[in-house]
Amino acid sequence: MNKSFGQIPRLNPSAAANVADAARHVEGLLDDDPDLDVLPDSNRFPRPGVDIPIADDSQEVLEEVEPASLPGSQGQDDESHEGATGKVVEEGIEYLTFYKSFRDVMSAPARKRWGIFFIKKRCVALATDMSFSTGESFVDCLDGLAAFLYTHELYHYRFDAHCLQMEATGGLPVYRPYRRLVANRPVTEWHEESIANFYALKALQPNLRFTYPQPICDYLWDLVANSPGAYAGGINKQQRSRRDQMAQQASAALANAGPAVWQGLVESTIRTGMGLSKQRESTLSSFLHLDNCPVFWIDWVKGGKSVLVPYVASVSEINNDFIKRYLAGVQDHHSDHSFYRIDNGEKVKLPNPHRPDLTNREFHNIIGKAGLTSPQFYKERERTSVWRKGVPRSPVLPPRFPSKGGGS
Ligand SMILES: [Zn+2]
Repeated sequence: MNKSFGQIPRLNPSAAANVADAARHVEGLLDDDPDLDVLPDSNRFPRPGVDIPIADDSQEVLEEVEPASLPGSQGQDDESHEGATGKVVEEGIEYLTFYKSFRDVMSAPARKRWGIFFIKKRCVALATDMSFSTGESFVDCLDGLAAFLYTHELYHYRFDAHCLQMEATGGLPVYRPYRRLVANRPVTEWHEESIANFYALKALQPNLRFTYPQPICDYLWDLVANSPGAYAGGINKQQRSRRDQMAQQASAALANAGPAVWQGLVESTIRTGMGLSKQRESTLSSFLHLDNCPVFWIDWVKGGKSVLVPYVASVSEINNDFIKRYLAGVQDHHSDHSFYRIDNGEKVKLPNPHRPDLTNREFHNIIGKAGLTSPQFYKERERTSVWRKGVPRSPVLPPRFPSKGGGS
């Protein structure tokens, strides 16, 4: 049995402060124009894909990640389904967690902090979805999710740290020009996300210290497989060409400077920092040790409640669009009027129309009978422009689990 959150190190504030101070010094020596980083809200750190509230009157709450601060399950049967999975499928893993560079320590959110930030409400929602989908306990799901997300974001730190190391000795800006370039490329070219997801999945494989239940690993694999653009590339065993392309992106700022042989040296030096080994980082100085990267929970709260809005599939969308149109559902006249026969012969019960939102149990029962996992449901939702194009579906899928009698 794992110690919950066993892969996440304890906070080391002085080591973290040293990294940020060193980075400020190094960046002060670099010939890079910080005005190039101006964003619509210039006090916020730049990272595409991060979706968090813009300054409002909510209060930002940070907590250290440790077993004692483990959030509880929201997963009672009558709780609404929150489609965190859907936003990951549309936007990527950064919907749940983000890495904020030590270079941006003075920018919002989490001013004066840097590191890995788990967005609490969304991680809880996703672990709840995973628990309903896999039948594993909420705590085990959150633990597996945390190991996965931590490793993904740790990869972003690892590359940032490698760039700082090069900048400290070489005097060339690498990281910021690279981030700017990637931010202006389509998500299919965010190669760093593919490699980060590759390592995140690898962190779930059984090893001497940790094992995670297979259904949890399968759920997260499916989540990656259905993620957008380069994020989905994380399921490939071979990341070599991703690394090559990422090295080219990171050395692109130098493309017009100096002789080709020097550019080749720089690119190959960048390339040495693209692996991740939690046991032994042979190319990272101890000053920038992986355990020095802080990890926090973050939420935005007003009146004691999170202001983050769930991403919900409504009851009417499920009834009118998903069941009737996409699954070619027809009313089952031999039983209660709230039952529909769908394309694969399964009988599904329409969600309670007196509730505005679906419950978790209703959602998982319906998509399971339709033969879909929740990442697949949201991927299909996107592909069909919310059940309008290419419907009803073809081919038809068998149910994911045998129907439990259900009176048929
Ligand atoms: Zn990422």
